[in-house]
Amino acid sequence: MAGRRRVRDVLSELGVDPDTVLVIRERTLITPEERLDDDDEIEIRPVISGGAPRERRGAMKCKRCRGAAVIEVRRHNAAFCGPCFEHHFREQVRRAIKSHDMMGRDDRVLVAVSGGKDSLALWDVLLDMEYRAAGLYLGLGIGDYSDRSGLAARAFAGERGAELVEVDLATEYGFDVPTAGRKGSRSTCAVCGLSKRYVFNRVALERGFDVIATGHNLDDEAATLLGNTLRWDTAYIARQSPALPGREDGMVKKVKPLYRLSELETAAYSFLRGIDYVVEECPLVAGNTQLRYKEAMNTIESRSPGTKAQFFLGYLDRAAHLFTTEDDASLSPCEECGQPTTGRFCAFCRARAQVLGRKLGEPASERQIAGELSEEVLPAEIYGG
Ligand code: AMP
Ligand code: ZN
Repeated sequence: MAGRRRVRDVLSELGVDPDTVLVIRERTLITPEERLDDDDEIEIRPVISGGAPRERRGAMKCKRCRGAAVIEVRRHNAAFCGPCFEHHFREQVRRAIKSHDMMGRDDRVLVAVSGGKDSLALWDVLLDMEYRAAGLYLGLGIGDYSDRSGLAARAFAGERGAELVEVDLATEYGFDVPTAGRKGSRSTCAVCGLSKRYVFNRVALERGFDVIATGHNLDDEAATLLGNTLRWDTAYIARQSPALPGREDGMVKKVKPLYRLSELETAAYSFLRGIDYVVEECPLVAGNTQLRYKEAMNTIESRSPGTKAQFFLGYLDRAAHLFTTEDDASLSPCEECGQPTTGRFCAFCRARAQVLGRKLGEPASERQIAGELSEEVLPAEIYGG
């Protein structure tokens, strides 16, 4: 585009919300107030989808040191230079860990890494803060996307000399996510989520990790809370804590140390730290309801910065206690795999049997089947008999 133009105007012309992209010129981040020359080449790197353009003027200065800013965080009404932004990022993680008692210095932390910006940023910041953090990469078998994700996770581990545990769903369990989506009764995203939760917990248990950390960020948590609230799914709302305690009977503690940071912030942090992450989204996620909730939140956020944080952080401060219930379900080992479950067979083994066209053991009694059926809809044909 010709003429010296502000990045913001260029983005606006393209119909792009500045809060949803990183703008990179000659390998450095630039803010929306920066001006572009005719022959400047910029990369507009998406961090989230959806949104609407907005207006604002004046050059941006770092809130901490008054130097030239590279990133604007509208929610805090602030902009930061690179080093001060990294400081801000670490502070938010420190605060998250402290206020939810997520992990201690001696804990062995298993960071679930997808190869994307959030989980690699998380692993990086935990290593930087000198926690004992190993990575876990789960190969989901989603074509090129999974290949690139695995490479990014391995490259990061190699560079930092950190331990990476790898599990391949197809090798270990005989199916991949696209197949499970086609053959099972669950949606692709549901069976993928189920597999991740199962493998994370199992690996942590078997290898003696104290806590599992995932890269869920503020946008993820706000969108999930919006979805749960629209359905008034009170059981899920109650479980949306950034730290779920472990249980003696086989559930490992789970934490989300990035819950105070937006998707834009995790992308900027990864970029500034030189982390080579996979930019593309999972190709199977298109049209996913979670994405629609994110878009809806972004539309509101672009007009009223801070809404997402108020919604989710406000929930934690003032509403979460209204939803908590006694967790009195007793867990026993799955008859197929030995992992903790409330029924005879865990949800993962049931889904797997269905995808592989196998039958699990004989049902113990009609009553027990009825109980398991009401726990979640599942086809009776996966039971023998
Ligand atoms: P998602 O479910 O894709 O929104 O990812 C949420 C979190 O799960 C990420 O931030 C990671 O911590 C973790 N995760 C996602 N995909 C993988 C994977 N293939 N291997 C290990 N961890 C993953
Ligand atoms: Zn099982």
